[in-house]
Amino acid sequence: MGLLTIGTFAKASRLSPKALRLYDELGLLTPARVDPVTGYRLYAPEQLDQARLVAWLRRLGMPLARIQHVCTLAAEPAAREIRTFWAEVEADTAARRDLATFLIDHLSWKDPEMSPTTQPLHIRYAALSDAGLVRESNQDTAYAGTRLLAVADGYGGQGAPASAAAVDALKHLETDSIPAGNLLNALEDAIGQAQQAVRGAGADDAGTTLTAMLWTGSQLALVHIGDSRVYLLRDGELFQITHDHTMVQSMIDEGRLTPEEAASHPQRALLIRALGAGADSTPDMRLHDARPGDRYLLCSDGLPTTVPTEAIHRTLSEPTTPEQTAHTLITLANTAGGPDNVSCVVADVVEGER
Ligand code: MG
Repeated sequence: MGLLTIGTFAKASRLSPKALRLYDELGLLTPARVDPVTGYRLYAPEQLDQARLVAWLRRLGMPLARIQHVCTLAAEPAAREIRTFWAEVEADTAARRDLATFLIDHLSWKDPEMSPTTQPLHIRYAALSDAGLVRESNQDTAYAGTRLLAVADGYGGQGAPASAAAVDALKHLETDSIPAGNLLNALEDAIGQAQQAVRGAGADDAGTTLTAMLWTGSQLALVHIGDSRVYLLRDGELFQITHDHTMVQSMIDEGRLTPEEAASHPQRALLIRALGAGADSTPDMRLHDARPGDRYLLCSDGLPTTVPTEAIHRTLSEPTTPEQTAHTLITLANTAGGPDNVSCVVADVVEGER
């Protein structure tokens, strides 16, 4: 078969003549021959494979510069490159999905019809932290105030100062007046400050988890990095509203591990996100509409790794004060051997002025 005109080649490759001219100019797909008299581009039939690959990669949304690189590779490294590109797209999409959810929640709340209650609400709260029975020191930090609830679980040689510094860096949120529209930025800035504070507090191997909720008067804004958790008891049902940033959790998500296998996995404590040198510190952020009667529990992993979920559920369901509830949960962890530091922050959403 002889050379193909740009029209024929365009039809066969499902690229437009305009795109083909652009790819020629960029050096991505150079015609086999350009007629010196007419300037017409002519393509060889064996160029069709590459043209079709370019068309499919464009459909994936791959930038032209990267397509150019893929086209220089043999099949196997090209496949690897496409897999890497797609993993990046999915990670980016997941991050933007969280942001979209946050913004939808945030704006929905501004619509008075969406507000489930017009009664003033406030929170009653307690924070308790305990070294447990095995560890020599307590590297956890737990805090509860009128607006801020936080749990941090430090690790490494300077784990205790790291977790304390992270929580301290958020405490200005207790008193700052944050315009409703600026909540997302304020939280993001606070995480940045916590990251800085952790760096200033510890050795290179030190870091911390950080899970915090900020009470806005009608909602709880959540920021979460690591494997501390938040549970919500609502209408008698218990929901875990955070996702552990651990290697075993991501293996569960991918279907490579069952939750039962994860519980005894030798690397079950390995974090894939944390505040610390070299760690991915991207926080999950979400807004929760608060309802009267809601009970929130923030806890370090020392609780769920020792106390079964049913026992946590039962304890939270008791009509006890936040302080008594936190105390009972810590006692349960220590009765089970107390292998790790354990921290609990319990907060009840109640109607009426403070
Ligand atoms: Mg721990």
